[in-house]
Amino acid sequence: MFPPHTRILIVDDMPSLRDLLKAYLRRLSFRNISEADDGRMAYQALLAAKAAGAPFELVISDWNMPNLDGLEFLKLVRSSAEWKNLPFILLTTESEKAKVLEAVVAQVSNYMVKPVEEAVLKEKLTKVWEKVTAKS
Ligand SMILES: [Mg+2]
Repeated sequence: MFPPHTRILIVDDMPSLRDLLKAYLRRLSFRNISEADDGRMAYQALLAAKAAGAPFELVISDWNMPNLDGLEFLKLVRSSAEWKNLPFILLTTESEKAKVLEAVVAQVSNYMVKPVEEAVLKEKLTKVWEKVTAKS
């Protein structure tokens, strides 16, 4: 599992969903959690954190958001060589499920269908962490 100090960026245009994810992550012992409203702000946050020498180590992002949606944000992240392997989990709705293949092609680490449950989040994080450790 990701260590508790992992720097996590939560991206969702709904504050209530960010709060829910934060509560789940805190219960899973995570302590370094930041938030962004949409893909554009999230990308700025990624750049700022990198510049500050404390880059994010995990992104959990909604798909459907204004300005820059989750898939566009994922593609932007993956276009940078240093973020090729940045763990990136997308949140989708049931109706977006058919588009998941597109996200897989864009190298998403994993995805979750809303409404997110704590047990599912834990399971997905465990799976993504296994991928991270298999690569190193
Ligand atoms: Mg949304």
